[in-house]
Amino acid sequence: MTEASTAPDRPQTLSASTPCRSEDVPSWDLETDVLIVGLGIAGASAALEAAAAGSDVVVLERASAGGGASAESGGLIYLGGGTPVQKACGFEDSCEEMFKYLMAAGGPSDESKVRLYCENSLEHYDWLVGLGLEFKHSFYAEKTTSPETDDGLCYSGNETAYPFSELAKPAPRGHKPKVEGDGGRLIMDKLLAAVEAGPARVIGDALVETLVRSDDGRVIGAVARVDNRLQYIRARQGVVLAAGGFIMNKEMLARHAPALLKINYPNGTDGDDGRGIRMGVAVGGTAIHMDAGFVTTPFYPPASHLKGILVNEQGQRFINEDAYHGRSGHAILHGQGGNAYLIVDTEIYGKTIAFHQKAAVEDSIEDLEAALKLPPASLVHTVEYYNRHAANGEDPLFHKAEAYLRPLTAAPFAAVDCRNSNAIFAGFTFGGLDTLPTGEVLDSEGEVVAGLYAAGRNSAGLPRWGGGYSSGMSLGGSSFFGRMAGKTAAAAGRR
Ligand SMILES: Cc1cc2nc3c(=O)[nH]c(=O)nc-3n(C[C@H](O)[C@H](O)[C@H](O)COP(=O)(O)OP(=O)(O)OC[C@H]3O[C@@H](n4cnc5c(N)ncnc54)[C@H](O)[C@@H]3O)c2cc1C
Repeated sequence: MTEASTAPDRPQTLSASTPCRSEDVPSWDLETDVLIVGLGIAGASAALEAAAAGSDVVVLERASAGGGASAESGGLIYLGGGTPVQKACGFEDSCEEMFKYLMAAGGPSDESKVRLYCENSLEHYDWLVGLGLEFKHSFYAEKTTSPETDDGLCYSGNETAYPFSELAKPAPRGHKPKVEGDGGRLIMDKLLAAVEAGPARVIGDALVETLVRSDDGRVIGAVARVDNRLQYIRARQGVVLAAGGFIMNKEMLARHAPALLKINYPNGTDGDDGRGIRMGVAVGGTAIHMDAGFVTTPFYPPASHLKGILVNEQGQRFINEDAYHGRSGHAILHGQGGNAYLIVDTEIYGKTIAFHQKAAVEDSIEDLEAALKLPPASLVHTVEYYNRHAANGEDPLFHKAEAYLRPLTAAPFAAVDCRNSNAIFAGFTFGGLDTLPTGEVLDSEGEVVAGLYAAGRNSAGLPRWGGGYSSGMSLGGSSFFGRMAGKTAAAAGRR
């Protein structure tokens, strides 16, 4: 930061909900064309594009270094339409099939955003590769949450599960950079290195507290706490909010997404406190889909668990178990009050990555039903009906794929505890500022808030509801629409 400022003019703390008026700015500490708030995948992508377009760029990051939740993530990126990895692994895909799938699964989602995302998926793949990310041309065939191997491709959604398998031609679109285990750190290392190598200026330990608005309603800068001192930063072209979601803010969850309070393993960092969204709302932006979020209690891998049946407290099935784990997680949390058991027999039982416990183990389904205190004959009836049809490779109730249909007959039988009180439920929020595909933030009338852009979890994500998510849509959407926001802000005239 440049010069010292005189304390009396500068308040000690600012509310995100109260924008600073331009006449209350004592003096500008720093001026730039594009100001970016947050250096996760959305902010880094925006910074790279805005700088590439010739704008002066400043990035303010509340942590000492960039990375955010993106760096902690599994690293799956949802890409398709015939990427080199898909082709090398023998899968046919097209922009149209990808679009059909995302629209069907996601809600339907915002059509213009999904369309743009699909049409540019190959270009976005190339952009990521251009940053130095390598995707191995190998397919991880077993159904999983995220490959532990360095394989480059896997199914990461509901593509092969009913009803989506009938609505769009299935293709695997989960792309993971070449690294064993989680890939988020590698992705962010590459992006941060590219930002570092470019002209954008990154300031760490800089918590943006509120935005600065001019009399005509335009966003013209932000106020940040840097070195424990308020600094006023002017943005001549615009401010891009890329400060994450709100899974760490219990008050916001209680108000907007109370079901997500049951998440006991939030996927995020301290930065996911919703401040960016609140700052955007304070200057006229609208927040949408605020109740939506990803939730999972990953009862697979092992993939053999998909041959089990999920039952509720009435001993009844409620979903095809081969659905994406975020879809079954959503169904358990929202449809069953967070209570379910996975019923398995001894041949398919295995340990889960989330260390689920066994609620009961018994030699017969009757005894298992009694041990779980399920209504008399409920589980017995469910298993008898399931087994009868599974023996013929059929699931008339929920249409689970034949590969996972097998009668549960090998005693002992166990109930894997998928109740929210006893099992890990992980997740994060999807809701955020309403944006155009360009990243421009919209107000409640659908008008653009001048000078304001948002991307990543600060904006409403691609899926409209939790059950419509597929792994990779966050990193994919946040990076792609981060780029869009950076480009659009850079194209805006200087003021
Ligand atoms: C364990 C885990 C696994 C996941 N796996 C996947 C996956 O495989 N695929 C996928 O697509 N998604 C995955 N996700 C979700 C995905 O990582 C996030 O949704 C995505 O990274 C969000 O990107 P972002 O840029 O919006 O936010 P972030 O990466 O969190 O970046 C926001 C940045 O803004 C900073 N910030 C916040 N407030 C302020 C402020 N007021 N002033 C200045 N800076 C601020 C934060 O410190 C942070 O660095 C996973 C998440 C987790 C935690």
